[in-house]
Amino acid sequence: MTSGGSNTKETVLEIDLNALAHNYRYLTSKLNPGTKVMAIVKAFGYGSDAVQAAEELARLGVDYFAVAYVNEGVALRDAGIETPVLVLHPQPDNFEILIDRCLEPTLYSNRIFKAFVSAAEEKAQENYPVHIKFNTGLNRLGFLDTDIDWIVENLVRTKTVKAVSLFSHLAASEDIQEREFTLQQINQFRRISEEVIQKLGYSPLLHQSNTSAIINYPEANFDMVRTGIGLYGYGNSEVEDKHLKPVATLKSVISQIHEIEPGETVGYNRAYRAKGHEKTATIPLGHADGISRQLGNEIGSVLIHGKKIPIIGNVCMDMLMVNVTGVDCKEGDEVIILGENQTAVELAEAMGSISYELLTAISQRVKRVICRKTPC
Ligand SMILES: *Cc1c(COP(=O)(O)O)cnc(C)c1O
Repeated sequence: MTSGGSNTKETVLEIDLNALAHNYRYLTSKLNPGTKVMAIVKAFGYGSDAVQAAEELARLGVDYFAVAYVNEGVALRDAGIETPVLVLHPQPDNFEILIDRCLEPTLYSNRIFKAFVSAAEEKAQENYPVHIKFNTGLNRLGFLDTDIDWIVENLVRTKTVKAVSLFSHLAASEDIQEREFTLQQINQFRRISEEVIQKLGYSPLLHQSNTSAIINYPEANFDMVRTGIGLYGYGNSEVEDKHLKPVATLKSVISQIHEIEPGETVGYNRAYRAKGHEKTATIPLGHADGISRQLGNEIGSVLIHGKKIPIIGNVCMDMLMVNVTGVDCKEGDEVIILGENQTAVELAEAMGSISYELLTAISQRVKRVICRKTPC
């Protein structure tokens, strides 16, 4: 099924669910048969629409979802999604809600472990599914290998929780220069898991790979992979980006055109000064929508009728101006800020950032429009 992109008269973020399905099929084609898939839908589905993305991914058969925080998991449950949901970084204040909504916590320290077990005891839980996270070098969240005996002892002692997975997270799976470090992380996770399983007497699911590890370390799929950015169409490499399709297209429209004289200035602080007779276009999209001020002053650009047009002056809260001198365009014409032809990677690189930051910065003020424009 296809249905074309919208012909918009306002700023919208088009979410192409067929592109999401395409990316899912591409990524799963890289997996060993039987490997489970956890789809990461945190941060509003990397800025897309977490519920719409999750519903599509559930139809495609993903085994698990993951979010960062409890409220993100609650939004999935409110929408009727019944697939298991891992909360990557739950806060103890929200353990009660987490249990009420059948979300599954990451336990990453003694403090969090104890706090969760006592919250689950209070709610008379038995074998409540929990996920044990190990720090193998990212130094962000996780138990160390020296905690194994404590963890096993405490898991064996209680009937309240049961470890359904053991996992770790790679620091630099996209960076070939760090191959040696990554292999060391993988081996350390393998050793830790073997020891835990041997001492525990049963085998929780093992998972460590994010999108780039699926591609660069296929030998380390373990039982499940966790993919985020790849599902949304970005693969942290030029080669992979060719196989993936951006799910999000940020579109807007020209609100007003100005003809200005040499020496006239544009925008706040008069940051842009016309060199000759010039034509500018104002677009209803600003830093409150997620277009950083760092993209102003000709660092970033937009596409109008397929032409790359620089952003001039300072990006305002609700709008930005571009230089359309010599460009055949008029008020009401479509403007593309990011998508297939100007990717989140290109625009992010211009401001020294990464696709992840640009996509997740697109604020909730921007209307999301669901479409299926990629043929499938
Ligand atoms: C966000 C996140 C992922 C997803 O990583 P991608 O590079 O987007 O595939 C996987 N695991 C953890 C722990 C994460 O926080």
